[in-house]
Amino acid sequence: MLATAAANKLAGGGRGAETQMAELKQAALVLTDISGYTRFITMRAMSLLHAEQIITDLLEAVVASAEYPLTISKFEGDAVFLYAFGDDQPAVAKDVLSQVVAFTTAFASKQRELIAASECPCDAHVHIAALRLKSFLHFGEVVFKKIHQFEELAGEEVILIHRLLKNSVPSKEYILLTERFYQFSGGLAGQQAEQRREQYGLGSVPIYVYYAAGSKLAEPPAADSWRAEKQGFLSRLFTPSK
Ligand SMILES: [Zn+2]
Repeated sequence: MLATAAANKLAGGGRGAETQMAELKQAALVLTDISGYTRFITMRAMSLLHAEQIITDLLEAVVASAEYPLTISKFEGDAVFLYAFGDDQPAVAKDVLSQVVAFTTAFASKQRELIAASECPCDAHVHIAALRLKSFLHFGEVVFKKIHQFEELAGEEVILIHRLLKNSVPSKEYILLTERFYQFSGGLAGQQAEQRREQYGLGSVPIYVYYAAGSKLAEPPAADSWRAEKQGFLSRLFTPSK
C-alpha cells in the first residue's frame, strides 16, 4: 500500500511547529452538491434568504449521518466537501461509497419534510421539489495542512474534484466516481455505471456515473394540487413546443 506517502511529513520544523504542519496523505474525497434553483430564484431578498436556509438545512441533513473515517472538511456554498483517510484504500472507498449512497436517501427524506412543512409562497419554498443532489468521489494524494485548529486539504486532486462540478453529464442527480475511486471501491453492486470522459485543459478524465433511479422521490406529493398545478405550468413553460 501507499502508507509511506501517508507517513511522509513535509513540514513542521521551526517556529510554531506544534501548531503548523503539512502532510501528504492518501484520501477519499467527496464533494456533494445541491442544484436546481438557478432558474427559479429571482433576485428578491426573501427568496434568496430562504433559498440559503433551505440549502443549508438539506446539506446538514445529508451529512448528519456521515461517520468516521468520513469527515466534513467544509461547507462551500451549495456544496459540502468531505474526506476520509486510511491506508486500506479499498476498505475506505467501499465505506465512503455506501455512506454517499445514504446521502441520497437523507436528502430525499429532508426534501419531503421541508415541502410538507412549507407554507411560504416565496420562490425558494415553492420550488424545493426542483432541488437535486449530486456527489463526486475521487481518490488521491492530498496535502493535509493544519494551522492552529484549522484543517485544510489542498493539491491537484482537490482541484480536480472541484473541476468535476462542471461536466457534460446530462442529469442533475447522480453519483460520479473517478476511475481511481471506481477501482478501489469496485462500484455499486448490481448497478451499471455509465463510463464517460470529461475534458479539462491538459487531458481527459475517465469517470463512472450512476444515475438516480429514484428521482421520482423528489416530486411534489400528488395531494398538493396547488403546487402540482404550478409545477405542471412551469414544466410546460420549459418544454419546447413542437
Ligand atoms: Zn420562503
